[in-house]
Amino acid sequence: FEIDLVEFLNGIIDRFEMLEKENIELSRSLPKHKINVQLDTDKMTQVLDNIISNAMKYSPEGGTITFNAAVIGRKVKVSISDQGVGIPKNNVSKIFDRFFRVDRARSRDIGGTGLGLAIAKEIVLAHGGDIWAESEWGQGTTIHFTLPLKKVKEGLQQ
Ligand code: ATP
Ligand code: MG
Repeated sequence: FEIDLVEFLNGIIDRFEMLEKENIELSRSLPKHKINVQLDTDKMTQVLDNIISNAMKYSPEGGTITFNAAVIGRKVKVSISDQGVGIPKNNVSKIFDRFFRVDRARSRDIGGTGLGLAIAKEIVLAHGGDIWAESEWGQGTTIHFTLPLKKVKEGLQQ
């Protein structure tokens, strides 16, 4: 579908706000203008649900989850930052691997299979985008992903 990504993100954040998980504040830093993209909304909802629930699960002290979206060239970059436990440097790129979980002892209590981000990566790549993480152990984590903007008319192609 062709949709406005800003409106789509606002809808997802609204839904999480209604869950009112104590301690966690959701902060939006989204553009006022529309960002037209073409995407499978069910699949992209799955991507965001996992990223946001991770941010909540791995933020024991609460804090703020910040949402950013910005157009860069012919792509839009979405970033979701938390102030949670963070990920050790040598594990940051592994979190997108199937079944990988940082510190099994810690994550055992939290629950999950370690598949969420592997699925998220598959979906983002299938949309022609990319996904990566930035994290500081003990400070917080940011998940970034990009999506191509809807193509403008190019020659005969609509
Ligand atoms: P599932 O999503 O399948 O329920 P999961 O959340 O453990 O389980 P992923 O979402 O794939 O699996 O994340 C993989 C691992 O990456 C997590 O177990 C966790 O160790 C680490 N991780 C992911 N997001 C964060 C985050 N925001 N802060 C700290 N660690 C994270
Ligand atoms: Mg997860």
